[in-house]
Amino acid sequence: MPDLILVLGGTAEGRELASALPGAVYSLAGRVADPLLPSCAVRVGGFGGVAGLVAWLREHGPRAVVDATHPFAQQMSAHAVSACAVAGVPLLRLQRPGWTAVPGDRWTRVPSLAAAAEALPLLGSRVLLTTGRQDLAAFSSSDLEFVARMVEAPSGAFPARLVTVLGRPPWSLSQDVALLREHAIDVLVTKDSGGPTAAKLVAARQLGIPVLMVDRPPVLAASQVPSVAEALDWLGAQVVD
Ligand code: NAP
Repeated sequence: MPDLILVLGGTAEGRELASALPGAVYSLAGRVADPLLPSCAVRVGGFGGVAGLVAWLREHGPRAVVDATHPFAQQMSAHAVSACAVAGVPLLRLQRPGWTAVPGDRWTRVPSLAAAAEALPLLGSRVLLTTGRQDLAAFSSSDLEFVARMVEAPSGAFPARLVTVLGRPPWSLSQDVALLREHAIDVLVTKDSGGPTAAKLVAARQLGIPVLMVDRPPVLAASQVPSVAEALDWLGAQVVD
């Protein structure tokens, strides 16, 4: 029987890792109706807080937990740290590196979505928001014009002047240049999700559009790796220990 590994997912890296582990259980929050899935066992839905995750760990006895959630899935990551400590299960954070500005980029880094909303009027008035539908509320009191691109339509609070563009990444450079031009966007707001250089950042550079880049929250787990290959090495070391 292969070792059971719980992979907390929601990212391409999480899917890739889980597909490479015969004994993985891949866990999703269940926010997206038709998620991309790995080729292993999948469970969907919250655990019920730290206590629920501790109970799951005790019931299933995984050899390790890999937190491969999105860099901004702060609550799940914090719960994983607490629950793994209580249940005595090794925890690894798999998080791809953030983006780095290159010459020609006009980025302003901000510590939070709230800070981005505050800084926006200083930079532009027609905003492309690519932060995700859960984050529209941070901009709901703004009277600027917003275009928000996301996988599914928003359900919570959102700005009064909002156009939504639905679709699933990845986006090509020509698509992103066209989107910025079509809506006469003069400022882009994005979270520092990292991964392959996003076309929207290249498009903004080419068109001279400023970017508000929301910084990631700090990593809480004691062990952290930036790639699937290094996560597999770490797991290998856990199994022989
Ligand atoms: P969050 O705020 O950190 O988590 C809220 C609650 O959702 C958690 O307490 C947990 O519920 C449940 N949850 C989150 N991730 C889960 C997982 N992988 N498996 C089982 N339960 C999970 O999370 P979020 O920011 O809403 O993100 C939700 C999912 O979308 C994550 O899987 C994340 O990787 C993915 N995602 C997030 C973003 C983003 O920008 N935040 C972007 C792309 C993808 P309980 O307390 O009941 O256990």
